[in-house]
Amino acid sequence: SDNHLFSAIVAAVPSLDAPLARLADGSIETYGDAFALSARLAHLLVSRGVKPGDRVAVQVEKSWPSLALYLATIRAGAVYLPLNTAYTLNEVKYFLTDAEPALFVCRPEIETEARALATEIGVPCVETLGNDGVGSLTVSAAALSPTFPDVARGPDELACILYTSGTTGRAKGAMLTHRNLLSNAVTLKDYWRFTSNDVLIHALPLFHTHGLFVAANVIFMSGASMLFRTKFDAREAIELMPQATCLMGVPTFYTRLLDQPGLTREATQHMRLFTSGSAPLLAETHRAFRERTGHAILERYGMTETGMNTSNPYEGERIAGTVGLPLPGVSVRVVDPESGTVLGSDEIGMIEVKGPNVTKGYWRMPEKTASEFHDGFFVTGDLGKIDANDYVHIVGRGKDLVITGGFNVYPKEVEGEIDALPGVVESAIIGVPHPDFGEGVTAVVVMAKGADLSEQGIQKALESRLARFKQPKRVFFVNELPRNTMGKVQKNILRDTYRDIYR
Ligand code: ATP
Ligand code: MG
Repeated sequence: SDNHLFSAIVAAVPSLDAPLARLADGSIETYGDAFALSARLAHLLVSRGVKPGDRVAVQVEKSWPSLALYLATIRAGAVYLPLNTAYTLNEVKYFLTDAEPALFVCRPEIETEARALATEIGVPCVETLGNDGVGSLTVSAAALSPTFPDVARGPDELACILYTSGTTGRAKGAMLTHRNLLSNAVTLKDYWRFTSNDVLIHALPLFHTHGLFVAANVIFMSGASMLFRTKFDAREAIELMPQATCLMGVPTFYTRLLDQPGLTREATQHMRLFTSGSAPLLAETHRAFRERTGHAILERYGMTETGMNTSNPYEGERIAGTVGLPLPGVSVRVVDPESGTVLGSDEIGMIEVKGPNVTKGYWRMPEKTASEFHDGFFVTGDLGKIDANDYVHIVGRGKDLVITGGFNVYPKEVEGEIDALPGVVESAIIGVPHPDFGEGVTAVVVMAKGADLSEQGIQKALESRLARFKQPKRVFFVNELPRNTMGKVQKNILRDTYRDIYR
């Protein structure tokens, strides 16, 4: 028996001398370096009492050793649990209490408070890792052996617990197995035609499924390399493009790139692929990017609990405003949320998915897990439809659906109409408690610089375009929509801001 995920990573490596990551300071880390560092760190985990199946919670800035720590945890047979660096220690307390890790790796800046918290809630061990990649973890590991006897792990054993982004409520810990991660990485590598010649601009955080499982795992499975950056800087990304072949981004990466005059056909000529996900890409961004660069951004759809489910095709048509086709091995269906019956093409309902990518369930939440599965399919919480050509369209989250006077209003449809109006950058449609209608359709709009829009103007423009019940009862203007670190619009914040307007 072997370590299902790590053995596959080892088998995919072209040569130990092949580069895996070029860091911002110009240094190159090879696959051999990654294996040696992760072996040292794996020995350290074992010496700190981490046993197979134990959780290793990690809240650190992105650094090269932090990526090696992920591999080390897998090699030690333990369960990697990365946490968003934006969480306060008070929020971290919830995750540590829930997951009961054997070790917590934190930033050196919060070591004192982290140790106090660990003592309080019974986490046996704390180590540090700084944004420069130095901390008690790497210092202690330096003297340890660069080879490690990898702990055997079967495909159905846990590799990671990844908490959801908490966009719609308290974050839930999705249990991800070796098979979940490996199957999705192999599928994406093939679907997006990755080879060892690829060079990815890796500028996503490593605490989220996008940066860790889509980006890093696909690179591992391709034996490819990455230009490893701790954060996204649009100007720098454009400078890197002549040495790169691919960028994986959230929609805000693309709007920021479009703000740069340096984004041209020539600057992107060496690139073969731009992907987008984690939040909806505006059709307008897709069009503008294509116009400027000649590249059609490839949008895909996934979530913490499932990894990636659908993708626009590599060769076929990449259709703006859709998230593409079900990935090979993944079944996607749309059901009526009330009756549970499977709907036909173009009918809107709840998106459900099934495949080797889908989580075993939520950590220590058996009831929640049971309620999120329906005949073996995982209930995504996203509403959408599948068109006659099998392309999946997302119309919004179930929790963002607006029900007004008994009618369903899908936010995306109204947002699409508003976004198409001259002078509008983007918009968000929310349902706000309304004494007569239950919820009132409410628009929050970001105006372009210099545009002159009014509430009445927008309402008037929508009159001929949308049924009356879909038209916003109120329109508010803001400088920007509230977003979390993955670029997701936080509609719960908007609902909160405007909750009293119809009272
Ligand atoms: P929580 O489940 O805690 O509320 P979250 O759903 O935002 O948070 P993630 O797992 O990070 O946490 O995000 C998955 C969600 O992101 C999907 O369910 C979907 O709503 C959205 N999403 C991802 N990719 C796309 C996309 N290409 N287009 C539209 N939405 C997307
Ligand atoms: Mg979710």
